[in-house]
Amino acid sequence: AGQRQSQPGSQPGSQPGPRPLVSLRDVHLAFGATEVLKGIDVEVGQGQAVSIIGPSGSGKSTILRCITGLLRPQRGAIHVDGVAVHALAAEAQLIALRKQVGFVFQQYNLFPHLSVLENLVIAPVRVGGVPRARAIAHARELLAKVRMEHKERAYPGELSGGQQQRVAIARALAMRPKLILFDEVTSALDPEMVGEVLTVIRDLVEDGLTCLLVTHEMRFAEDVSDTVYFTEAGRIVEAGPPARLFGAPANPRTRAFLQRAA
Ligand code: ADP
Ligand code: MG
Repeated sequence: AGQRQSQPGSQPGSQPGPRPLVSLRDVHLAFGATEVLKGIDVEVGQGQAVSIIGPSGSGKSTILRCITGLLRPQRGAIHVDGVAVHALAAEAQLIALRKQVGFVFQQYNLFPHLSVLENLVIAPVRVGGVPRARAIAHARELLAKVRMEHKERAYPGELSGGQQQRVAIARALAMRPKLILFDEVTSALDPEMVGEVLTVIRDLVEDGLTCLLVTHEMRFAEDVSDTVYFTEAGRIVEAGPPARLFGAPANPRTRAFLQRAA
């Protein structure tokens, strides 16, 4: 008791700080008989960067997939910008949600047969109904933001892993999402490419993009996050501001994990 930050409700005025853009309340999810999430509470304020750290298999990716509506919890509530994601039934509502929530994975899976520019343009034009000229102008702004403007005509196969991941981040931004989920986006990269991708994410955080990051990069999480959550075996074991969570973890399991990760 007393280890976790209080989990304020989403009523206006119940907490200082930014309004929650994402909230999970007591989320439970099982695959068959296997309980994977055992009562998850997470909150991401508008404009915040929040990190989830924890051992492999502890449920981090599952949390992100619940937020996009890809998985439906058996119990609990998930809200994204006021929309009750856990209760969405119609496919049209889920598609609308996914336009608002960018998702970047470890595997960048760009469309290999499309140029870098076209990778960014296709969804806004075909799914978002954006006029092509406007989509192209926006795509070029985003490529500049991720420092890939010189490669707009290249194909994904001609790029390094770090470059592909930066394009994947720009592609997620092309839909003008309200928030972006990053799931271990540097884990598949050669070490020398990790920094360039983290720099891009840091820039986005500084621009005020709302970000929820699952990461093994502890120093990065400590640097950029407003709040860090530590998961183990489907539970949030500890949460708090990074200086406290990394500097003085209250829970022995958090301490052990951070020692191993160091
Ligand atoms: P993390 O991202 O923290 O490594 P995951 O959220 O991917 O963990 O997985 C949490 C647990 O759920 C793991 O034990 C994993 O094996 C299990 N799991 C994930 N997806 C499925 C699935 N589709 N079916 C059955 N078990 C799954
Ligand atoms: Mg994972």
